[in-house]
This record gives sequence, C-alpha cells and structure tokens, in this order.
Amino acid sequence: MAVTESLRGGTSEPAGVRSVHEGILRRQSARESAARTYARALPIVPVRARGLTIEGADGRRYLDCLSGAGTLALGHNHPVVLEAIRKVLDSGAPLHVLDLATPVKDAFITELFHTLPPGLAGHARVQFCGPAGTDAVEAAFKLVRAATGRTGILAFSGAYHGMTAGALEASGGAYDVRVARLPYPQDYRCPFGVGGERGAELAARWTESVLDDPKSGVPRPAGMILEPVQGEGGVIPAPDGWMRRMRQITADRSIPLIADEVQTGVGRTGSFWAVEHSGVTPDVMVLSKAIGGSLPLAVIVYRDDLDAWQPGAHAGTFRGNQLAMAAGTATLAYVRENRLAERAAELGSRMLSQLRGLAGEFACIGDVRGRGLMIGVEVVEPETDRERAEEPPANLPGIDRTGSGPGLELLAALELEGDRDAPHQAEGAATAQGTDRHPRPAAPELAVAVQRECLRRGLIVELGGRHSSVVRLLPPLTISDEQADAVLDRLADAVDAVSRDRTAGHPTRRPIPQHRRSDDRADWAG
Ligand code: PMP
Repeated sequence: MAVTESLRGGTSEPAGVRSVHEGILRRQSARESAARTYARALPIVPVRARGLTIEGADGRRYLDCLSGAGTLALGHNHPVVLEAIRKVLDSGAPLHVLDLATPVKDAFITELFHTLPPGLAGHARVQFCGPAGTDAVEAAFKLVRAATGRTGILAFSGAYHGMTAGALEASGGAYDVRVARLPYPQDYRCPFGVGGERGAELAARWTESVLDDPKSGVPRPAGMILEPVQGEGGVIPAPDGWMRRMRQITADRSIPLIADEVQTGVGRTGSFWAVEHSGVTPDVMVLSKAIGGSLPLAVIVYRDDLDAWQPGAHAGTFRGNQLAMAAGTATLAYVRENRLAERAAELGSRMLSQLRGLAGEFACIGDVRGRGLMIGVEVVEPETDRERAEEPPANLPGIDRTGSGPGLELLAALELEGDRDAPHQAEGAATAQGTDRHPRPAAPELAVAVQRECLRRGLIVELGGRHSSVVRLLPPLTISDEQADAVLDRLADAVDAVSRDRTAGHPTRRPIPQHRRSDDRADWAG
C-alpha cells in the first residue's frame, strides 16, 4: 500500500546499521531479566521519535500506537514538552528536592487542580508518591485504610492496578483475603450471559448483595477501586449508569470510591478524566502515566476530609521529579487548551466505526470496543462460530445454581422482576450492545500473529485482555486524520494476512459487501 511503503524504512538498510540493531537486541536478551515484556513482542531498537513515529536503529519507521502503554498523550517529544524540560534545565533549578515546595511543583498543582472534576477541585489534597502508577495505587489504599480504620478493598474482575504487592492483590489475576472481587460489567463476555443494561444491573446488584449480606464473607471495606475503562483487562468501558450505581452504593455505605485513572486520564477516553462521562465524583483519584508528560510521575488526589495521615505517614525519596512536573504541566495545559479530549472522542468514534466495518469482514474479530482513543479489537477463533451459536447458555460463573447462596437468590429475584427497573444506559460508551450471543473462544495466538504482522507493516500495537487476545490501540491524542487512516490501513492488512495464513484453503474472510471491496480501501479508511 502506498502509505505503508512511504513510511516504511524498507529492507535496504546498510549491513552495519543492521548489525548494530541486531547486536543491541542480542545483548538485551542475554543480559536483561526474563521478566521483560514489551521487548519480547516488539524487537525494535528505538533511536529517534517524534509524535506518532518511532525510528529504529535499523532505519525502519513505525507508527506507535502503544504510546508508552498509554503515557504519551502528546506523542513522542512534543515541542511544548521539550521546551518545558529545557526551561527547567536552563534555569539552574534543583532537579531533586524530595517533597519540598518549588515554583515548578506549584505550577503543576495549579494546572492539575484546574482540570479536576468540579466536585473534587474545591476541596482536594494531592499527595506525591513514588513515581509509578502502582505507587499511587498503594498510596490510595493506605490513605483509605488510615481514614476509615478498615482494611478490606473491593476490586473488580479483570482489573489491573500495578505490580507492587497491594496493587497486585487488587488486580484480576490475584487471590487475597483483603481484597473482595466483584463482577465488572462487560457485554461481549458478560459473566451473567446477558450483557448490556441487564448485565450491568446484575453486576451492580451483586455488589450490593455482597455488601449488605452479613454472611457474604466480605466485611465492610476501606474502599472500592475501579477503572472507568479497564485497559489491561481488554478495553472494557464501564457503563455510565453502572458507574453512578457504584458511586451511590459506596456513598450510602461510607466507603471511599477510588478511581484509577492511571491509563484513562488526560483526555484519553474523550473527556479530561474518564469519570466525567458519568458525572461521578470519586473520593480518591489515582493518576500517573500522561500526567508526567512522558517522564515518571504519580499522585493521588483526594477529598481533604480523608487526609487522616500523620506527617511522614507515606514518605519516599523520589517524589519531587522537577522535569516530570514541568513536562506534565505543559502536557495538561496543552490537552486542555487544545481541547484534545473532544478530539479523542470524535476521532475515536470514527475509528471504532471503521473497525466495526472490519469486524464485519473478518470472522476472527469477535468484538470492537473502546472509548475515545482507547480502542480494543478482540481476536477470536473463527472456526467455531457456528458451533458456538448452537450451544445452550453458559452457567453463570461465580454463581452456584445448585446451592442456596445469595447468588441464586439474586438470580431468582431478577428473573422474577424482568426489566422493571433497568439501569441507565451506558451513554456514549462505544461497546457493543448486550445480546444473547455467545462469544467465540479467545485466540491469543492469532492476536500475537496480528501484532507481529502489524509490526512488519510498521505499526506498533499492544496486546491485552483476560486472554491476551485483544489488540489495543492507544495512539497519541495529537494523531492526525491521515495518520489514523494509515494505522487502520496497516491493521486491516495485518488481519487480512493472518486470516489468509491461518485458513489457507478455507477462507474465514466473510463475503465482502458490494460497497466495500478490498481494492477500495479509501472507502472505509476515510
Ligand atoms: N493502574 C492502571 C489502570 C494501569 O493501566 C497501570 C499500568 N498499565 C497501573 C495502574 C500501574 O502503573 P505502573 O505500570 O506505572 O506501575
């Protein structure tokens, strides 16, 4: 494709350049931990970057839709970020100041508070914690435990909050007595088999039942943590009505609500903070990634009456990164002044509808969902489509239909009630609507193949989701229409290549509608 070729460095790089690149990769695999992650799926050696584009040591150029796992709201090396960093360096200001006050920090807090949901901005406190998202999650748990005198945390299936002990406990793969796990609403793989409003309502009632049943095994918790859109969990936007229910349920029971906006913040989902879609004001917000303008920075922002901490209750050496604060101030201001959240909403919904067109064409795309420029394409096994459609409804995970626990009572009550008091619709959330359809099995190997084919075409994408089968797009909010077209163009080509490869002999590509022939890509990429 013309656009792909023009951006690709091609294979004609000199042998010396290639061997530098290969040598670095060889030494990396010999010397770095087996725990390295992105480096395994993306064997590239970035040497230069600007905006959406990364250039590798081998001279190849890539469109980067990983964006530092959603960190780079303005893409790589945005001029306003570079200027802010240079200004601090040239001013002679100290770079390391623990948690002392500085003009750079003062400006950052002013800009941050400027962006906060109005219900929080007027009486907010900010705590600078260690520099990663996971540090802010730990700080949030510690804060609500100190404020409430309770220990337990409510978290959701599929959640991801980080890799330090407390954050890991609250993430979906863990088991811990201090964390009670609740169902997160989702349409495509709804734990109740219904999706949509009904699935969200069942999830909310399960939460209420766990909290109000004295024998649920879950004591009154110190806080509830949720992601307004689950990112690592597979790009699952929470319905706005469900968000409001969680706010009501927690407020009624004096449980602080913690919104983890590490990945969803700073315009990514189409509003400055993702909680704004539902109008929910959380008690604590966990912020990192984009707030540091590409440098490490994490904070919690919380209602001042939760500030029960004693001096030194949550200390640490690296809490005053002046360069990150300056880069962060520039980023927050740029996103706000240039209305990049609105831009993310508008471009995101266009990309989603174009991707849905693609899903209609390839049987290996099971679902397309997202909000703003946080987009997921779930890759599934194409072969079992027909068999799956004929299977009886699955039993509800987590609910024992043979026993007499609260789950069964809840189900019976809901079956009797029918749709009498369905919750608010998930306004604006661009998920597929809930249906009775049965999701096809996740296809992590196919997803890896799609990621690899994308890379061959000069496109960097992330994989996520419960089964690592969701291709994730997190482009910078500054991406142009033409670049978005090039991204979708390459992704479509990659899916096509994988589908052909997988099925050599019996195609899984659905018949292409008359108006959308493969030789007329501009039709959908436009
Ligand atoms: N919370 C969420 C929602 C995240 O997506 C992540 C990272 N992907 C974290 C917390 C942890 O952030 P970090 O990797 O900086 O520790």
